[in-house]
Amino acid sequence: MQVQRVVLNSRPGKNGEPSPKNFRLERISLTPDLEDGQVLVRTLYLSVDPYMRCRMNEDTGADYLTPWELSECLDGGGVGVVEGSRCSALTGGDVVTSFNWPWQTHAVMIGDGLQKVDLQMVDGHLSYFLGAVGITGLTALLGVREKGYVTKGANQTMVVSGAAGACGSLAGQIGRLDGCVRVVGICGSDEKCKALVEDLGFSAAVNYRSEDISARLQDICPDGVDVYFDNVGGAVSEAVIEQMNKGGHVILCGQISQYNKDVPYPPPLSDKTQEILQSRSIIRERFMVLSYMSKAEASLFELSQLIKSAQIKVLETVVNGIENMGVAFCSMMRGGNIGKQIVKISD
Ligand code: NDP
Repeated sequence: MQVQRVVLNSRPGKNGEPSPKNFRLERISLTPDLEDGQVLVRTLYLSVDPYMRCRMNEDTGADYLTPWELSECLDGGGVGVVEGSRCSALTGGDVVTSFNWPWQTHAVMIGDGLQKVDLQMVDGHLSYFLGAVGITGLTALLGVREKGYVTKGANQTMVVSGAAGACGSLAGQIGRLDGCVRVVGICGSDEKCKALVEDLGFSAAVNYRSEDISARLQDICPDGVDVYFDNVGGAVSEAVIEQMNKGGHVILCGQISQYNKDVPYPPPLSDKTQEILQSRSIIRERFMVLSYMSKAEASLFELSQLIKSAQIKVLETVVNGIENMGVAFCSMMRGGNIGKQIVKISD
């Protein structure tokens, strides 16, 4: 059978912005004859995520991430349907997911490496397994719970950067449900600010591209900032930390503003910000969702319930076609998405 796949065409370089030209679409023939333990899957949805920027480098800088190889098929989070199986645990029609799904329209995969999903968890929104009822939702929920120290009745203010993105949009809603009296989002457009306040129930939103973050935060956070869910790092985060209260907590989730630069993770802070953290006893701890996978099952169930009961709203930006994987990735890295960036591969 003829299938399409996406391979790495070139690397952006450690200090380069990724471009759709770094990706190449190929047609190959796939022999659908299966060996014992294998399944044939048709890809339904693929995910593009910020960590993939590290995989575009020869050295990812992280021991848990392997680099993508030139001219090899790329991979990441995916969802698909089993069309043929020689694996006893899976049968045709099962919907399955994996963190290492090839960017390919059909693929032969090892059945044991796939996770069968329960469709009731997402009420038919299969792409949610890559976002709100997948690793993104876990990152938001467990990030807030493990590192945020949100306490009901404590009159806390939370700020979220990258707030209109996949993790950020969920983290802010979870902060509000868990008891923050004020949740402020920082993001890159007026349209995103409007969505945060009008659709997702954030108390206020700041456009970091056009507004003075410090002045706006002083205005909208009169009691200071207690919890900061940091997705972006850089100047945005330094401005937020400056407004933080004594004993506050920074959830160090990601630093996307630095991902096109050759700096260690987490990138160093300015002396001034270091001094603020120290003098105000603000705890800034790195959060890694993969360290909390023992809590995944219960947390995914909770996320599913929160979504079904409309306590959390899910936003997605969906692009169609495997030929647009590179375009979708680069668009997400520049802020083209509201909510989770998904690529739909087939119906
Ligand atoms: P998003 O859906 O948030 O997409 C990325 C967003 O980042 C863009 O939409 C853009 O929004 C924003 N952005 C891009 N460049 C900049 C910049 N220079 N300054 C400020 N904002 C910028 O992606 P995810 O939700 O998947 O990931 C969010 C963060 O969470 C990332 O840092 C990621 O690495 C991290 N992460 C961490 C995990 C963990 O275990 N710690 C697990 C998963 C993700 P805008 O228009 O607002 O600029």
